[in-house]
Amino acid sequence: REKKVSRWSKSALTHNFIRVYSYVFERCRTCDAYIYLGGYRCEKCNLYSHSKCLKTVVILCGQKPLSRRKTQVFGVPLTSFKEEVPFIVAKCCGEIEVRGFKIRGIYRVNGVVSRVKRLMKSLENGPFLIDFSEANPNDLSQVLKEFFRALPQPIITSDLYAPFINVAKKYRYSSSEPLTQSTCITQEECIAELKEIVNRLPAQHKSTLSFLMHHLRFITDHQEQNEMSAKNLGIVFAPTLFRMKDVDGNCFGMLFDNALQTLIIELLIKHCFEIFGPPP
Ligand SMILES: [Zn+2]
Ligand SMILES: [Zn+2]
Repeated sequence: REKKVSRWSKSALTHNFIRVYSYVFERCRTCDAYIYLGGYRCEKCNLYSHSKCLKTVVILCGQKPLSRRKTQVFGVPLTSFKEEVPFIVAKCCGEIEVRGFKIRGIYRVNGVVSRVKRLMKSLENGPFLIDFSEANPNDLSQVLKEFFRALPQPIITSDLYAPFINVAKKYRYSSSEPLTQSTCITQEECIAELKEIVNRLPAQHKSTLSFLMHHLRFITDHQEQNEMSAKNLGIVFAPTLFRMKDVDGNCFGMLFDNALQTLIIELLIKHCFEIFGPPP
């Protein structure tokens, strides 16, 4: 019996599970599939789980009935969150700063799709009771990227896409062709312009972007171990943070501006303190 318990996740052990032998028309809160026959139910919070899912439960027992309604976390506007920085962003970044920052290729290496989906379902099922301390950091990095990818309005709002790209153009040309002075800007001017554009973002977009850039800056502080420079992180994050969609929802502008988008993210990471101030 002890052997069985040791295979449960730490979060699973916080519940008062009883075996259910009857037919149940309830969803497993980890994988979101119906249980139908058997499974486990917590006497305190009423969380249901397949027995096979007990090893990956990440929702802690809240000691009171868990809301039956799911919280929409993915695909809702950034402005719909009550927090300055959405809890999911803080949660994933926080865990990566504890256990994931030394992993080679963190954020570049994708998570395992099936596990990533479970984490996303768990976030919707018990948003404020999540314990990610046993989750795989690569999976968490993927959850974070999925969150930004699913935003209806990208964190870098469409109206500021062109201003950002223009700064990158002026700055890139100044570093590669120093003689064409009329269209060039120095690094200081570039940072000042980026700061000005960032200040035009909606409040929650700005605070979340600031939080993320400070987090990525922390990741680059350990690039000797994780091999993720600001440029590498720029390559990973640019397509997720910059998204241009036309009226039909098709993405455009990504193909041609790729290098410029990457440069912007690289600069936002490297100069996060000057551009955003201290982390929110
Ligand atoms: Zn399950
Ligand atoms: Zn419970």
